[in-house]
Amino acid sequence: MTALASLKEVLAEVSDLRQAAELLGWDQETYMPAGGVQDRANQLGTLSRISHERFVAAGTGRLLEAAESEVAGVAEDSDDARLVRVARRDWDQETRLPSDLVVAMAREGAISRPVWQEAKARGDWSLFAPRMRITVELAQRVAEAIGTTGRAYDALIDMNEPGLDTAAVEQTFSQLRTAIVPLLRRVQAHADRVDLSVLDREVEPAKQLSFSALVVERLGYDLQRGRQDLSAHPFCTSFGMGDVRITTRVKPGLREGCLFSSIHEAGHAMYEQGVSRALARTPLAMGTSPGVHESQSRLWENLVGRSRPFWTHFYPELKVAYGGALDDVGEEEFYRACNAVQPSYVRVDADELTYNLHVMLRFEIEKELLEGRLSVDEVPQAWAAQVKEYLGLEPPNGAEGPLQDIHWTFPILGGFIGYALGNVIGAQLMERARAELTALDDQIAAGDFAPLHGWLGEHVYRHGRKFTPQELVQKVTGRGIEPGPWMRYVECKFGDLYELN
Ligand code: ZN
Repeated sequence: MTALASLKEVLAEVSDLRQAAELLGWDQETYMPAGGVQDRANQLGTLSRISHERFVAAGTGRLLEAAESEVAGVAEDSDDARLVRVARRDWDQETRLPSDLVVAMAREGAISRPVWQEAKARGDWSLFAPRMRITVELAQRVAEAIGTTGRAYDALIDMNEPGLDTAAVEQTFSQLRTAIVPLLRRVQAHADRVDLSVLDREVEPAKQLSFSALVVERLGYDLQRGRQDLSAHPFCTSFGMGDVRITTRVKPGLREGCLFSSIHEAGHAMYEQGVSRALARTPLAMGTSPGVHESQSRLWENLVGRSRPFWTHFYPELKVAYGGALDDVGEEEFYRACNAVQPSYVRVDADELTYNLHVMLRFEIEKELLEGRLSVDEVPQAWAAQVKEYLGLEPPNGAEGPLQDIHWTFPILGGFIGYALGNVIGAQLMERARAELTALDDQIAAGDFAPLHGWLGEHVYRHGRKFTPQELVQKVTGRGIEPGPWMRYVECKFGDLYELN
């Protein structure tokens, strides 16, 4: 047996253990009774320790070295050469993390989850603050263990988005802000062009859920290899290409309806379902980074789901499915309301234009926390100041401030930037797709989503983690990650919607 084949056996076991842990995590967020927290924390801690130790074992290191020699002459972009390269990067990174730190992250995450839920329900940051101190401390330990010659935050970014660093993200964000702020002002001066109140009506959650399941299946989410459940914070999780699940949240009011959240998560799920079967049970069998993952969810949610042709196709069916609730609302009015720009407190409900500002706000606060310039107790005040500066809003209430997102329970920092990078990358990919699929809008208006789904499958999904975010974007668009296409997209869309020119 070759070293590469032996290495693949080890990696397959590690993948099985990690996906079993994912299943325990999914269960905790969906069906586990409240009493299960402590047992679940222990189980997740144990599974994380076993998979970590199996992966970083000296024997795996020796197999990796031998496999590197075996693939030395193999084509650089082949599955095997890429597998060895990615496994090497992961191994180098993970061997720097001590076992007790890996176990602590899994255990503390499970324990933090219900504390966050309680704190959010009561709108009381002080309840969550002790858990947040643990998150910051663990993130600092991770950054220190990974090590970096630059800033502490660089290590966390590199773990999430290999090839990027704090300075590159700061530069992209500052370009975005330069485009968003003046456009937002122009839009606000024409706010009367869109009537958001047409969404102030209620539809039974059951009707919304079944319609959202119908929509995501038609987009290309395979429900024979997936399912949709409810959770406090919607997410997508994969236990292998044959079982990729999404969750959503729903309230009767249409502004808090489930449709766009379901489309978003299905965007993630289609990516995971579309990875090449040849990569199964390897570290390549998943999306390449949170940023590229978000490019897929945000592309389907916004660039498709909030487009005119999408509603040309779905609006008549939506009106029937919602039992007459929208009988007096025309398609154009509905389309405009779905795209209304209005600065708000909650990221997941934010419009396309102000959404990135929510991400920048968290990025600034995380950097301050990690680099010790801000204490956990000061987070609500810092948040309020940023909300005022970025969004022009007065301080939020407890649940609409720093407690709104689940991410700080994981417990790690550095993941939020993927949400803004996702918008940027999604617009770049869509610009390329439009250049190749010249009838795309007509296809969408006819309910034919297969050409776009197929294009993404060919250019993005099937590669899994073979390429870094930069490499993938370069390969598909011929250019590196850059905010230009997103800036052109919002200028064009909102310029038209708000009749700015
Ligand atoms: Zn997402």
